[in-house]
Amino acid sequence: MIEILSPTQLPRARAVGALVADILRSMKSRSAVGTNLLDIDAWTHKMITDAGAESCYVDYAPSFGRGPFGHFICTSVNDAVLHGLPHDYALADGDLLTLDLAVSLDGVVADSAISFIVGAKQDPADLAMIDATERALAAGIAAAGPGARIGDLSHAIGTVLSAAGYSISTQFGGHGVGSTMHQDPHISNTGRPGRGYTLRPGLLLALEPWIMADTDELITDEDGWTLRSATGSRTAHSEHTIAITEDGAEILTLPTRP
Ligand code: MG
Ligand code: MG
Repeated sequence: MIEILSPTQLPRARAVGALVADILRSMKSRSAVGTNLLDIDAWTHKMITDAGAESCYVDYAPSFGRGPFGHFICTSVNDAVLHGLPHDYALADGDLLTLDLAVSLDGVVADSAISFIVGAKQDPADLAMIDATERALAAGIAAAGPGARIGDLSHAIGTVLSAAGYSISTQFGGHGVGSTMHQDPHISNTGRPGRGYTLRPGLLLALEPWIMADTDELITDEDGWTLRSATGSRTAHSEHTIAITEDGAEILTLPTRP
C-alpha cells in the first residue's frame, strides 16, 4: 500500500520528524564511553512517552525477527548494522554506534538513523564509511521530487556507495512511511534510473543507505534480531524521512536544536 498525505497532514509529519531527530541527537550526546545500551533504550522510552508519541518498535514482530522487538530504539555496535537489539553492554572508546528510531505521533510515523563513533578513538576508515552513507543519503534526497522515479533515488544512492568502494546488499533498503513504519514503495540502495514508482507530492519516504566495510553478506545474531556483517567488519547506516513536495523534497528528520 502507498499512502499519500494531504497538505493538511504535512505539519504532523514535520512534528514527528523533528521529534525523532531530537531524540536521536539527545541519545548521541549521551552516548559516552561507559554508557549502557539499556540506558539509551530507557531514555528513549521516556522521551517518546513525554512527547505523547508511540514507539513503532516495542511491539514490532515481522517475519525476519524473533518478535516482538520489546525495545524502543535499535542500537547497533561495530559489526552490527541493522535491527540491533539493546542489551547489557557498556560502550567502549572507539565503538561505532548506529542508532535507529521510528515513532508515531498523531498518526504519522518518522524513521531516522545515525552512525557515529563513541569517545576519542576515531578510526579514519570508520569515519570514511559513515561519510559514504551520509553522502549517499544526500544524493538520494537530491534525486527526489515530484515526477522522479524510485530507480532514480536508488541509482543516486548506489552510485555514491560503489564509488566509495563498498558493495551493496539489496536485502534491506528504504521504504514508504505513513500511518505505519514500513510501506511501499521499497527503495533499494542500488538500481537503474527511470524505473519504478513515480513520486508525487504527499508521499513520505525513508531513505537508508547502509554498508559493511568488506562484505555484502549479513548474519543474524543469536538474539534473533541483530544483523551483523558476516566477516565481523565494521558497518554504517544513515537514514532520513523525507516528504515529496510540489517543488522537491523536504527532510523531515532534522533536529530543531543543536
Ligand atoms: Mg530506521
Ligand atoms: Mg527505515
